[in-house]
Amino acid sequence: MRQIENFIAGEYVAAASGRRFEKRSPVDNRVIASISEAGRPEVDAAVQAARAALHGEWGGLTADQRVELLYGVANEITRRFEDFVEAETADTGQPSHVMRHVFIPRGAANFKVFADVVKNVPTEAFQMATPDGAGALNYAIRVPKGVIGVICPWNAPFLLMTWKLGPALACGNTVVVKPSEETPNTAALLGEVMNAVGVPKGVYNVVNGFGPDSAGAFLTQHPGVDAITFTGETRTGAAIMKAASEGMRDVSFELGGKNAGIVFADADFDAAVDGIFRSAFLNTGQVCLGTERVYVERPIFERFVQALKLKAEAVKYGRPEDHTANYGPLISQEHKRKVLSYYAKAVEEGATVVTGGGVPDMPGELAEGAWVQPTIWTGLPETAAVVREEIFGPCCHIRPFDSEQEVVALANATDYGLSTTIWTTNLARAHRVAARVEVGITWINSWFLRDLRTAFGGSKQSGIGREGGVHSLEFYTETRNVCVKL
Ligand code: NDP
Repeated sequence: MRQIENFIAGEYVAAASGRRFEKRSPVDNRVIASISEAGRPEVDAAVQAARAALHGEWGGLTADQRVELLYGVANEITRRFEDFVEAETADTGQPSHVMRHVFIPRGAANFKVFADVVKNVPTEAFQMATPDGAGALNYAIRVPKGVIGVICPWNAPFLLMTWKLGPALACGNTVVVKPSEETPNTAALLGEVMNAVGVPKGVYNVVNGFGPDSAGAFLTQHPGVDAITFTGETRTGAAIMKAASEGMRDVSFELGGKNAGIVFADADFDAAVDGIFRSAFLNTGQVCLGTERVYVERPIFERFVQALKLKAEAVKYGRPEDHTANYGPLISQEHKRKVLSYYAKAVEEGATVVTGGGVPDMPGELAEGAWVQPTIWTGLPETAAVVREEIFGPCCHIRPFDSEQEVVALANATDYGLSTTIWTTNLARAHRVAARVEVGITWINSWFLRDLRTAFGGSKQSGIGREGGVHSLEFYTETRNVCVKL
């Protein structure tokens, strides 16, 4: 069983209280790690270490020196690739080939992409006329925000954490990370990487624990934290926003979604079925950008539902290291209970269960894991809870539509606005609909195709601010103007 400590000022430290909590495997419910739970003293020590690093060696580095270190971090992650794959699959239970091809390489890439952005992005300059004719020159400089509190979820832990760390560190900030209590492994491992590469102590700190009345709340309430970046549920975002209002600290939020997939009758049928299958069931449906509401144009509705059903019934359950498996468990028993409660609610609300709706028959030890079936419903009104609320599980409701106008209204009838995926071969319509759906990211004839230089974030209650490429600099730096009278 792994022992996971907090990482403060370059050292692995157990909480003075001696408090620890257990991490269970999603695959078979075995206890796989014991984690030190940071209290206020450890959060305080981490914030102080981060503050000291800002004013120490780290703060004195040039942008080029920082960039070199971050390239070193990315290379060291790549060198220890298998360790990261193993740590992440132990926490999430997801097939290791998904970690190998997507989540871990993208985690390493996050350090390089933002290092390159910082190296190449200019600041503005304005010449100004003055009454004496000599004029004045204005130019902008960017400075780091300071100590950034980084609060992460469990669904793609390494990818989502490094998506924040890459730009935060490239811009010269220091960080204190609070990973989800379900997925502490890769954040702990990254401490070894930071030390191996020579990132100064205190630049990267990790405090483990829970949200309310625990490390998450202690960190977001800490007056020594200058800004907070958070990915997680909208409800949690509201609590963190309240905490951030003390001291007027800036926030960047990537929150929940109830994303619509739109399939027109003229779509490439097989590509659309494959695309919606991925967007509904990848990572066992635990992707913020995933599709839980599918709208299919009436002429192909029945055929689409049957085709998606066949694919959902063909998923191969298995342990992460089983190379033939393409479908893993949910993150935890608690999340399994939540998802199953929605499966029951769908039936109560009168859904037709096209497939799934329960727990698969798993052999041996796997029977104890957090497995649920991929599930498809039809026949529910838009007012049903499973059509309105984010479930964050491997499930979707499919409804027919008759016109472009109708489907845009259906897609927009939600408080969320994270992403959508549109399937059609009519290019004019694709662009027209994309401009009218109220979301931060629209994919046309694709899903989860991410160029890390582009703006990422949610509309409405799905987020505040944009991260990605130069957009990340808006949050991770402060722009200051210098006015020179000539
Ligand atoms: P949560 O909001 O439950 O938790 C996210 C993090 O916040 C965890 O580390 C949690 O700690 C911590 N936390 C909880 N309460 C507080 C608090 N009061 N103060 C400070 N920290 C707190 O989200 P999940 O982990 O369940 O992640 C799933 C959610 O994340 C979904 O809603 C999903 O849509 C969203 N998400 C959004 C993305 C986006 O880009 N928009 C991307 C990925 C996910 P702990 O868990 O340890 O208790």
